[in-house]
Amino acid sequence: MKNIIFIAPPAAGKGTISDYLVENYNYVHLSTGDLLRTEVSLGTLLGKEIDELITKGKLVSDDLIISLVNNELTKLNGRLFILDGFPRTLGQAHKLDQMLASLGVTNNVVIYLDIDVEEASKRALGRVICPNCKRSYHLYNEGFKPLNDNLCDDCNTVLEKRSDDTEVTFKNRFLSYLTNTGPVIDYYKKQNRLVKISINDKSITDVIKEVIKVASEYSTSSKEAEFRLKSGGSND
Ligand code: AMP
Repeated sequence: MKNIIFIAPPAAGKGTISDYLVENYNYVHLSTGDLLRTEVSLGTLLGKEIDELITKGKLVSDDLIISLVNNELTKLNGRLFILDGFPRTLGQAHKLDQMLASLGVTNNVVIYLDIDVEEASKRALGRVICPNCKRSYHLYNEGFKPLNDNLCDDCNTVLEKRSDDTEVTFKNRFLSYLTNTGPVIDYYKKQNRLVKISINDKSITDVIKEVIKVASEYSTSSKEAEFRLKSGGSND
């Protein structure tokens, strides 16, 4: 299996897919949003500043997020990882290439989950998360509702809505995605490093199957074109 770098709009389902891969394939899930929310929950001065940005749907600075990610990557010791929420800007993408090169990590695939704004908005507005173990649920989606009312199935903690899963903030986050992350998509596309999976009309189970197929078969060698033909995966 390959390390996965997910590029996707907010609320596309990266967290849910990552939960599955952590449980079944031993991945380490590095979510920059989770790392930031942990800092917020500590109530530090930095946490308060981050909270304000997150609640408005704005990005935190490249310097801060790069140092957080660098810190996590250096602790991995060769374990497989998923990067969820990073890189979100071109500066972060360049820096990620440097960090991975300096750690000698080459076994990676960039997966772009393509979803319409309407569908992503629906997912954001119905999402609740466990503040303890970070598992996410969906209040209106059968199969993703918590078993007991508003409690986490895994650790029984009361579930919460994220402060940025509101209609107004979702719009800001989506705009920020188009402006800041659009160039990141082009960056990987130009280098032929992007595998796109369109997820609008697919069940989460089918999306997970496609992600596993890509992460297990994708190769940057000459077999790449052959793989795309066989899998229906695309890098456009
Ligand atoms: P997420 O959980 O990935 O949706 O991230 C929640 C929020 O955390 C984002 O809307 C940003 O405010 C902030 N954030 C997460 N990742 C990044 C990043 N790579 N760069 C800047 N801000 C980020």
